[in-house]
Amino acid sequence: MALNIESLRKILELEREKGYTDSAVIGGLDKFLHRWAGQAIESVTSPELLSQFRRLRLDDSKYAAMTQPHRQRWIEEIIGFLSELGEIPAETEIKPPKSVSPPAPRKRPSSAKAPKIVGGSLEASITTLKGVSAAMAAKFNRLGVKTIRDLLYFFPHRHLDYSQRKHISDLAEGEEQTIMANVWQAQETRLGGRRSTEAIVGDETGNVRVVWFNNPYVAKSLPTNAQVVISGRVGVFGGRHVFESPEWELLEDKELVHTGRLVPLYSLTQGLKPRQVRKLMKAVVDSFSGQVKDFLPPELIKRCKLLELPQAIVQAHYPEDEAAKDNARYRLAFDELFILQLGVLGKKHEWQESQPGNPLSPQPAPLDAFLKSLPFELTSAQQKVLKELLADLEKPVPMSRLLQGEVGSGKTVVATAALLVAAANGYQGAFMAPTEILAEQHFTNVGQLLSRTGKQIAEEDNLRTYSGVLDRPLTVALLIGDLKQARKQEIQQQIAAGEIDIIIGTHALIQKEVGFTKLSLVVVDEQHRFGVEQRSALRQKGFNPHVLVMTATPIPRTLALTLYGDLDLSVIDELPPGRQAVKTKWLKPEQRDSAYTFLRRQVTEGRQAFIVCPLVEESEAIQAKAAVAEYERLSGEVFPDLKLGLIHGRMSAAEKDKVMHQFRSGELPVLVSTPVVEVGIDVPNATVMLVESADRFGLSQLHQFRGRVGRGSAQSYCMLLAENPSEIGRERLDIIEKIQDGFQLAEEDLRLRGPGDFFGTRQSGLPDLRMAKLSDVALLELARTEAIRLFEKDPGLKKPAHAPLAQELSRVWQGGGGELS
Ligand code: ADP
Ligand code: MG
Repeated sequence: MALNIESLRKILELEREKGYTDSAVIGGLDKFLHRWAGQAIESVTSPELLSQFRRLRLDDSKYAAMTQPHRQRWIEEIIGFLSELGEIPAETEIKPPKSVSPPAPRKRPSSAKAPKIVGGSLEASITTLKGVSAAMAAKFNRLGVKTIRDLLYFFPHRHLDYSQRKHISDLAEGEEQTIMANVWQAQETRLGGRRSTEAIVGDETGNVRVVWFNNPYVAKSLPTNAQVVISGRVGVFGGRHVFESPEWELLEDKELVHTGRLVPLYSLTQGLKPRQVRKLMKAVVDSFSGQVKDFLPPELIKRCKLLELPQAIVQAHYPEDEAAKDNARYRLAFDELFILQLGVLGKKHEWQESQPGNPLSPQPAPLDAFLKSLPFELTSAQQKVLKELLADLEKPVPMSRLLQGEVGSGKTVVATAALLVAAANGYQGAFMAPTEILAEQHFTNVGQLLSRTGKQIAEEDNLRTYSGVLDRPLTVALLIGDLKQARKQEIQQQIAAGEIDIIIGTHALIQKEVGFTKLSLVVVDEQHRFGVEQRSALRQKGFNPHVLVMTATPIPRTLALTLYGDLDLSVIDELPPGRQAVKTKWLKPEQRDSAYTFLRRQVTEGRQAFIVCPLVEESEAIQAKAAVAEYERLSGEVFPDLKLGLIHGRMSAAEKDKVMHQFRSGELPVLVSTPVVEVGIDVPNATVMLVESADRFGLSQLHQFRGRVGRGSAQSYCMLLAENPSEIGRERLDIIEKIQDGFQLAEEDLRLRGPGDFFGTRQSGLPDLRMAKLSDVALLELARTEAIRLFEKDPGLKKPAHAPLAQELSRVWQGGGGELS
């Protein structure tokens, strides 16, 4: 420092000697002064000197522009200042902050600062809090926060670790760091043309510059000699450390909120200010967390080594340390999963107990005849699942089962067998598909299977009757939307009269418009489009049918337990013999022609191909239009010599039926379609699947497309075209090329998309998961085990000790936006 001052003094004296001609330093005095000032300011430690120093404006000197007498005066002034500066040993002026130990968060709640409330309960609106204006409350409302309890559960998405205090001399560039220091000077300044704050603060090891860009107001809050805690990233400017727009707060006799600790970061929008929210949250947590009742039974808390709830809430916002933060998260995540499990188990219980189901006897005679007539043997996985189903159907408690099986694993046969058992018992069965095309296909397939066992004796519009399957005629109906109104009503009347045994249709139709007389089994195909609400609608029809939901979309176990925890799980984990992996290739745009050539060669060899049109997100009408255009391009320009079929959502059922029939019979070698072929279509002779804009489909969708081929014994191919894939699109294409296994793909899908998006959990009717991650299998299993244990002891949560839990359960499930039963 002394040297520094000395060198400046020498230069100034030289300048005086040279008659103030700005020739003492190469490049001019201004440049030198600017650099010198930037460095020197850190050693100016007394407030008076600092303001003197600033008045000289060495960092912004305009020496070159001054007149000669002006130069002279100015240089004398500086030399005078330097001599004063040189006389003061730096150390004596620095007052280290009173407390030099790390600012451990004090546990004492700062009750003096807590907002006062009028209502007093956790359910009171946040507007009752002092310091929450109507405008602020409105902003919070838009974030879903209405009550004080909501605020307590408005958790930060992460914390910044400002808990380790550094000495100024130990600051390192680029890191988030915390110092405690005295304010030497803080003032408004202009930085980059904007009103800003600049301060010099110091501790016993040195001084450092702090700037707040575009914020002149901080200056007013930092009186000279105040003690301040600064947390933030340290940058370098002019070779010196500087804090740039850090968090700060005065070290008064209160707990730190913004600095010096693990500081919460809330994901804010709606124009809420971080400091404002942190302050409010601190006060609310301090004043209200004590009011939160722990709803978990004490022995459970002990057994699972959980934090008490009030403590968990405090620590989730303002943790003492990393370990406390993790413990808090663990407890709160456990709560979410536990309540969720209790909910789904409760709904299942309620459903099963509220009305007895119809026990169905196994009916070995017709069932055996059916199985014997199949052109193949059931795989052992199919046999195992069929056994599970029959065992369920025999019980007086209605079945509630999820059947997972890879595309092409043969779920339909198993479901048909179960429907047959229902019919043989004199009851009705319903087979619900997500789309009309699939409903029609099921109708055709079931018909084909039954014709092998018995004989079709009557066929009317959408109605077929078979003899020789049961000891009476068996009637199957197809109920779809664009049936003529009169015909639809006729069929509905026949269903209501109990004249139809098996009804096949779409979810929507069967649920809305059909009055069954004796429904005992509902099979729901491609379940991921069949949410909790649809399931519940079925049960409200006054029946308590056995329900089998089927999906080819593999669901990771964690998600299955969460979303479908009310269902028992069966898996067909084996494909019929002779299936081969589908060769999958992601093609570059310039390979389009060779893709067409390849497709043509397959067709020449007698195979068939699907071409899936680009994904158009708008309406079905626009999608249909795009498909028509693509169809015309393909049949006009690319394959003028081949017969192409087209299928899209705007065609009538009869038209679709005709095209599907032609494709299935081999009359049409190529089927162009909108993405509706995604699920279920079964044409074993098809060996090529060409997907346009493949990068825009999700992994499970791509897997579904691919599953349309490779159903026969011939080698099949899936070609994926992508014009200009995004990074995530690229990643998906890479994955689908490499991975064949549906479950593995589902895990990848979960990883890429996150659970929220996986099946649209939004629409699942389940409560939100904020703290819990579906990747946390161990915690999920623990929560489920504990929920089952509790449920066995007290299924209705009727015991007084479980009253708080029952209350929490109904609160969360009501808030979750959906009834499950
Ligand atoms: P998914 O599980 O995708 O619904 P499907 O039930 O449509 O599968 O069956 C796919 C194809 O496999 C159908 O053509 C069906 O007849 C045939 N299939 C089903 N089970 C077997 C089996 N055990 N052996 C051979 N082929 C079978
Ligand atoms: Mg199927």
